[in-house]
Amino acid sequence: MIDIINYDDSNIFSKILRKEIPSDIVFEDKNVLAFKDINPQAPIHILIIPKSKYCSFSDFSLKASSEEIEAFFRAINDITEKLKIYDGYRLISNVGAFGGQEVPHFHFHLLSGKALGSKIT
Ligand code: 5GP
Repeated sequence: MIDIINYDDSNIFSKILRKEIPSDIVFEDKNVLAFKDINPQAPIHILIIPKSKYCSFSDFSLKASSEEIEAFFRAINDITEKLKIYDGYRLISNVGAFGGQEVPHFHFHLLSGKALGSKIT
């Protein structure tokens, strides 16, 4: 099993959740926050995070309640609808060192705004 680290409240997304640092929010509900990536890799590059404290997709999958998991995944579709993303998109979640995860608060990258091609790495 992948190492689950302890959640660190000093990570940048935790600060964004606490509104200690600004972000360009595109969607917010009880469970989920979505905001623009500061260094976009596509014309649309949104970061989607649960408001609860999970370090990674593994941590979320292991510990989140069914309600939290459902709310998170349903919010993704709400976000694509809100942003009128009708031509498709890519979802990525980097996990741990080999996944290249930099921020230890679980997030999905939502990429769109152009044809992204078939190459993933
Ligand atoms: P990871 O590598 O952890 O999957 O992705 C972290 C993402 O967070 C990167 O795409 C990076 O550009 C983004 N990011 C890092 N710091 C900030 C910040 O302060 N604000 C925003 N909006 N995005 C950030």
